[in-house]
Amino acid sequence: MRAAARSAHRALVTTLTLLATAATATLTAGAAPPRAAACSGHVGLTFDDGPSGNTAKLLTALRQNGLRATMFNQGQYAAANPALVRAQVAAGMWVGNHSYTHPHLTRLSQVQIDSEISRTQQAVANAGGGTPKLFRPPYGETNATVKSVAARHGLTEIIWHVDSQDWNGASTDAIVRSAGRLTDGQVILMHDWSANTLAAIPRIAQGLAARNLCAGMISPRTGRAVARADLRVGPRADGNGATATERRRATR
Ligand SMILES: [Zn+2]
Repeated sequence: MRAAARSAHRALVTTLTLLATAATATLTAGAAPPRAAACSGHVGLTFDDGPSGNTAKLLTALRQNGLRATMFNQGQYAAANPALVRAQVAAGMWVGNHSYTHPHLTRLSQVQIDSEISRTQQAVANAGGGTPKLFRPPYGETNATVKSVAARHGLTEIIWHVDSQDWNGASTDAIVRSAGRLTDGQVILMHDWSANTLAAIPRIAQGLAARNLCAGMISPRTGRAVARADLRVGPRADGNGATATERRRATR
């Protein structure tokens, strides 16, 4: 009796194990990220003002939805949270410079502008984020002095083609609609700290995939979203020390 009971128990355990395995497989298949069948174009997703307490959640959402993005970090936060900068790179993101303390750069002297930009380059590099190739001035405010200082640090200034208005309280629906206006090569402004933007990520991914648009890197040469590094500007053109595997992945 006892042997028979054990045998029945074992059979039940085996059945349950098989069912659990099947359930896991189903869940995994259902969680496959939306992906364009073929990339007919690329768009640049950008998230400003991190890294912060929201960055880990944002990175998880981007990864789960098969998206890569450019993170325009503030130097002061990169210095305070170096592990999050490394997490951005590990998640396949590109890291850009968004000034050290987020001032209105056009109101500062050339020396002050240089300090904002150079300290951020240093903070990101010290954190393990590579030396940024892309620079976004706070508020998108720029002038000839800002541009020339950025250029001296090897940075290409990137503003945006589409403003999600997440900084201005845009709803998740409105942020999804903004991303829906992106066309090949264009860049959208979003923020690391916006809960509505975080909530919009899965639908942004679905919308891009439905239009065969892929999330790409922003070319330091053209300032537009592309599949991968433009080899004409050198081996580190994609910045942040992306591996060959990451570069190949980015072309998908
Ligand atoms: Zn900002």
